[in-house]
Amino acid sequence: MFRKPKRRIVERRSTASSFEVSKEQDYPSRLNLYGIPPLSEITLDQFEEWALDRLRVLGEIEVCLFRNKVGKTLEQVVKPVLDKYLPLSSNFARASKGSSQLDAERKKDHYSHFILRLAFCRSEELRRRFVRAESVLFRLRFQLADSQEKQAFVASLNLDWEPVGDEERAAVAEQLAATAAFGADAGDSYFKVDFERVPDLIEARSVFLRGGKAYIASAQQLMVVMSEFESRLMRGLELTARALPRLDEDDRLVPILNHVSKGFVAPEYVAGSLLGAGEARPDAVRADDVPKLQQHFPLCMRTLQSALDREHHMQHFGRLQYGLFLKGIGLSVDEALQFWRRSFSVMTDDKFNKEYRYYVRHSYGLEGSHHNYRPYSCQNIIAEKAAPGPKDHHGCPFRHAAWDKLSAALDEIGVADAPTLRAIKDDVDKKHFHVACTRVFEATHPARAPGAGAADDGEAITHPNLYYDRSVMYARKLAEAPSV
Ligand code: SF4
Repeated sequence: MFRKPKRRIVERRSTASSFEVSKEQDYPSRLNLYGIPPLSEITLDQFEEWALDRLRVLGEIEVCLFRNKVGKTLEQVVKPVLDKYLPLSSNFARASKGSSQLDAERKKDHYSHFILRLAFCRSEELRRRFVRAESVLFRLRFQLADSQEKQAFVASLNLDWEPVGDEERAAVAEQLAATAAFGADAGDSYFKVDFERVPDLIEARSVFLRGGKAYIASAQQLMVVMSEFESRLMRGLELTARALPRLDEDDRLVPILNHVSKGFVAPEYVAGSLLGAGEARPDAVRADDVPKLQQHFPLCMRTLQSALDREHHMQHFGRLQYGLFLKGIGLSVDEALQFWRRSFSVMTDDKFNKEYRYYVRHSYGLEGSHHNYRPYSCQNIIAEKAAPGPKDHHGCPFRHAAWDKLSAALDEIGVADAPTLRAIKDDVDKKHFHVACTRVFEATHPARAPGAGAADDGEAITHPNLYYDRSVMYARKLAEAPSV
């Protein structure tokens, strides 16, 4: 892992910048078009933490888009994640929360956006994905804002909109009425903008054009703001990409940015983070518990456990992936030693102690470099350089197993209906492996179970231990629910 010293990022003024800003920026609205880069100092810890929090939100949005969840369905999934990692209160909350809390939320939103610009400006593909996810986030926030907030925000943008007066409106009433089918209604006020600013509306033939101006109904305002947001962001990313080589000299930020850009699909999950603040892991897990806990394991870990049961042995990378996962679910080092000793049942004590005991203790930070290794995330497992060979069982079955083997494994855990299998196959073909895994989680933890809540209202699966924690929580809620 990279170092996270409590050093401060020293402000650097860009001579190319034409923005006139003070170091302490004001945030009159929680909506932000991110036109002004941040200039005050933050710590490296904040730099990384804020970026990862925003990444969680964008990752969730991307998974929704992969699964064609839009509109209200997307809002239901993303809003809890947004409230958890990147809350933004409206100005009405100033009295209850206090100005400093509101400013802190807005500052985090502002800075995290610009930090991720640095991470995602590096290639055309990353820029395109970033703009798409950020646009969805902006649209969601805009829609959640009240009308007063929206109007004040739009007025602050100085978008050079020209109101259409009564006389002019009467002269083109017939043409404007023809746009009613596209969201405008008779009572709407209209304004004019240069036609180049609304390519999407023109492509959809949903605006009236005259003299180089597009006549926009107030109901279509969001589309104009969105178009402005996307074009400004894409331009901003291209400019950042050009300036990026200068940043490569900074040995503090580059490792963090590399780490962040790799985590777009699967930001790091900290085992046990679904628990409430101060809540301890429910029970220590003992070696004897592992077989019955398998019902909560994701497919990758079930595959490893089945192979261990069959072969009474496991290759290095499998031991590493499975051992760290078990550590993450709460197996202490002593219990882990018992577990592995018992699992390697055809081996003598002497051989186990000489060849394997050290590695188990090493993974708990008790030998060698004393590094306390964390369980692997899906991203680590999927992108693992050591792809599994014929004798190996590690890796992600969605990524590394052939379809006939994968579908047989799915059948064993009760995922057999044709539409779900088709959707999983489609995810796998598109290389959306963790989306396929999320689908399996939902199929095996049905939303209709009384008292368990909807299984698909949580975060996408981005970590095997997240799968486990969510499954255990689901079972707990199910057990606590009053019987019907
Ligand atoms: Fe395991 Fe992640 Fe693959 Fe699911 S997506 S099987 S949790 S590695």
